[in-house]
Amino acid sequence: MNHTDTRKETLEFNKLAKRLRRNVGNAITDYNMIEEGDVVMACMSGGKDSFAMLDILLSLQKVAPIHFEVIAVNLDQKQPGFPEHILPDYFETLNIPYYIVDKDTYSVVKEKVPEGKTTCGLCSRLRRGTLYSFAEKIGATKIALGHHMDDMVETLFLNMFHGARLKGMPPKLRSDDGRNVVIRPLTYCREKDLIRFAEEKNFPIIPCNLCGSQENLQRQAIKAMLTEWDKKDAGRVESVFKSLQNVSPSQLADKNLFDFESLPLDRSGERAEYAFSEATVSSTNIDKALYIDVANI
Ligand code: SF4
Repeated sequence: MNHTDTRKETLEFNKLAKRLRRNVGNAITDYNMIEEGDVVMACMSGGKDSFAMLDILLSLQKVAPIHFEVIAVNLDQKQPGFPEHILPDYFETLNIPYYIVDKDTYSVVKEKVPEGKTTCGLCSRLRRGTLYSFAEKIGATKIALGHHMDDMVETLFLNMFHGARLKGMPPKLRSDDGRNVVIRPLTYCREKDLIRFAEEKNFPIIPCNLCGSQENLQRQAIKAMLTEWDKKDAGRVESVFKSLQNVSPSQLADKNLFDFESLPLDRSGERAEYAFSEATVSSTNIDKALYIDVANI
């Protein structure tokens, strides 16, 4: 690679890093994800997304007008072959506070889920429970997860296609018992950008297939659908995501969100400007006495 190519690559990478930081900063502001004095527990799985999230949060922390702490936490689920030293070594080089939490959810999942069935549901529930209680223990006021825009759009379609629910993955969530608040700072980031960012940054990524579970087949199919869209119609995934920020309950069909039952007719006010409102009647079988001259309404 010659000097010009290297310079071009560096410029491209700087642009990408800037875009990702801007996306994260905007998501944090739009959803008031981080406030003065927050202790943010950054959940680190060792995957590319969690590394990128931590990296960006730490760089924003340096320039943010507010003060907040970031504590990296990895839950070691005792999957066979998990390289235990990678994350602590990485956190040490960054010189940031961290915890490695040991919880053998792997054995529980293996014991409870029948062979051949997908283990992700129980595994995530156990992981969530452990992280929620640990956050309280260390006084974390926010739990940051590395889900990005593609994860959120995939989840929306998964719930629609297989659960018949218009339900996604929110940028910010309060746990049912109100004791924890989860934030997703990568909400506005595309996965393809995070992949490039992680490659350039050379994060020591830990493979995510150690548990032996295949990623849910339904999610894989939806991922493939989004990849196809990206090839054919760039911007569609972003549009789907934006639609989640721009919901019109009266144009959907959920009786709990909009009161369709009592939509009273009210002609007392000014009539709106209807396009093409003039109409003439060429024939009718309605009684002359009841005849209404529609043209003069
Ligand atoms: S892929 Fe493995 S570690 Fe990840 S949620 Fe599923 S079972 Fe758990």
